[in-house]
Amino acid sequence: MRAENAESARRAAQRAEAQRINPPSPPRPATRAGPLCPVCGSPMAARLAKKGRRKGQHFWGCTRYPRCRGTKPMGGR
Ligand SMILES: [Zn+2]
Repeated sequence: MRAENAESARRAAQRAEAQRINPPSPPRPATRAGPLCPVCGSPMAARLAKKGRRKGQHFWGCTRYPRCRGTKPMGGR
């Protein structure tokens, strides 16, 4: 029994070591790839309208905001 426990512990340690070296999923960027800004051509990031007519709705906003005010509606409707 002691030998089995030692073996399973060793396997667990090996698995942990393998995950430490080779993590299962690579870190992702904070924002998904979006369209390019129609104004300046920079990538756009998903944003949530916090006020105004579109409050609560998601839209694409230029990553250069506030230097660029380019926006695009999301959803393609
Ligand atoms: Zn822009």
